[in-house]
Amino acid sequence: MTANHLEIWRKCLEVIRDNTSEQSYATWFKPIVPIALNGSVLTIQVPSQFFYEWLEEHYIDLLRKTIKRFLGPDGKLEYSILMDSTDRSYTMVMPGSTRNNTKNPIGRPAPETLSQNPINPFVIPGLKKLQIDSQLNENYTFDNFIEGDCNRVARQGGLVVAANPGKNSFNPLLIYSSTGLGKTHLCHAIGLEAKRLHPDKTVLYVQAEQFTNQYVTASKNKNLNDFVHFYQMIDVLIIDDIQFLAKKTMTQEAFFHIFNYLHQNNKQLIITSDKFPADLQDMEPRLLSRFKWGLAADLQMPDVATRAAILKRKLYHNGINLPDEIVNYLATNVRTNIRELEGVMISLVAQSSLNKKAITVELTQQILDRFLRNSVKEVSVEYIINVVCDYFTIPIEQLAMKTRKHQVVQARQIAMFLSKKYSKASLASIGKQCGNKDHATVHHACKTVSDRLETDRQFKAMLLDIEKKMSM
Ligand code: ADP
Ligand code: MG
Repeated sequence: MTANHLEIWRKCLEVIRDNTSEQSYATWFKPIVPIALNGSVLTIQVPSQFFYEWLEEHYIDLLRKTIKRFLGPDGKLEYSILMDSTDRSYTMVMPGSTRNNTKNPIGRPAPETLSQNPINPFVIPGLKKLQIDSQLNENYTFDNFIEGDCNRVARQGGLVVAANPGKNSFNPLLIYSSTGLGKTHLCHAIGLEAKRLHPDKTVLYVQAEQFTNQYVTASKNKNLNDFVHFYQMIDVLIIDDIQFLAKKTMTQEAFFHIFNYLHQNNKQLIITSDKFPADLQDMEPRLLSRFKWGLAADLQMPDVATRAAILKRKLYHNGINLPDEIVNYLATNVRTNIRELEGVMISLVAQSSLNKKAITVELTQQILDRFLRNSVKEVSVEYIINVVCDYFTIPIEQLAMKTRKHQVVQARQIAMFLSKKYSKASLASIGKQCGNKDHATVHHACKTVSDRLETDRQFKAMLLDIEKKMSM
């Protein structure tokens, strides 16, 4: 047999084309590039993580059938993700498909993803400085961070810091803004740039929450010294969302000592916060006073032109095409924050392809209305789990247990269904929170629940009841 990957994929496309709308075909299948065929494993390149999740969620059956038709019963699909624009962690899914995340096809190592639970590196005996994983997300670069009046001071300050870490008058650099305006992105960009310009320096990004957890573990295991020494080795320390340390007196104390040590030794500190430093509550005044030593710069909501530029960059990065008219419409009408702007863009592309509608200003308007209405009510997966467990009077821990008990299984499925409906969490993240399941399980649960909603009136009434409890 001489069939190669191009030929096989071309045949697959013919079948897919017959089984999807023109719009879905153009949006989701045309951008795919077949890159290899190894035995019965076909590797395809998709533009982004989002693309991959979308395909797996909506076209899993079609893909599976088509692949098996041309590659036989052992036929498998492997994905290679060109640009990983997300820091969501997720697990693999469709039996018979794998995500190739070791290398991407252009030969660069796959982008780092933030591990959810980085091992406390300071417990490794004999740890050398250079072995420390910076925990930086390679997609959050300066290049991808569009400059505007809204962020100029912070962005420029960041560039100065990256050029001369520790040896500038912006130490610490404190970046503050309300949510979704780019703090995390910018501080990763500074870390990446500092590392690029100074490969000998040790850069570390840590969320204040992780820092706190590490502190608590170290304190429990009586190795606080190792904890502190570990942080004293860092040349550029980035702490994201420092407001998380509010009320955590002991952790603040540890951070205070680390801060002083690093500052005295001309090491760079970069801190982000959701408030102006002086407005941070329940923080040690002596810690707050340290924050005044450097530069505090805020990020504002960008103006319309900058918002449009950001959207265009994101679309390009995700391999998605949208007419300028639509981009401008979105940029003009989403005024809350950039994360929401991205959210609307993604649901727009998704809805248009799912409902086989062309992307028009009307459709955009509809999605926007729905989105803005929903976003007011947006809730966390954690909250939903609470309500559901409360409703069925089962302890929350049970949801994570391996059990076939009908009530627990049902509660878990309902929690997954409601999380998909009301939260903005990805399927992978919902699964993780609802008993460490993978995203295919969540997908299945949602389908089971919605099927049952159509046929079982009692079930429907119960679900309405739970939804009512959610909005109380
Ligand atoms: P925060 O940490 O302030 O809540 P994030 O850094 O997570 O916000 O930003 C939310 C989203 O908005 C991210 O996807 C980020 O890449 C994007 N974003 C924010 N500002 C910009 C910008 N100036 N250019 C490009 N993307 C941006
Ligand atoms: Mg953030």
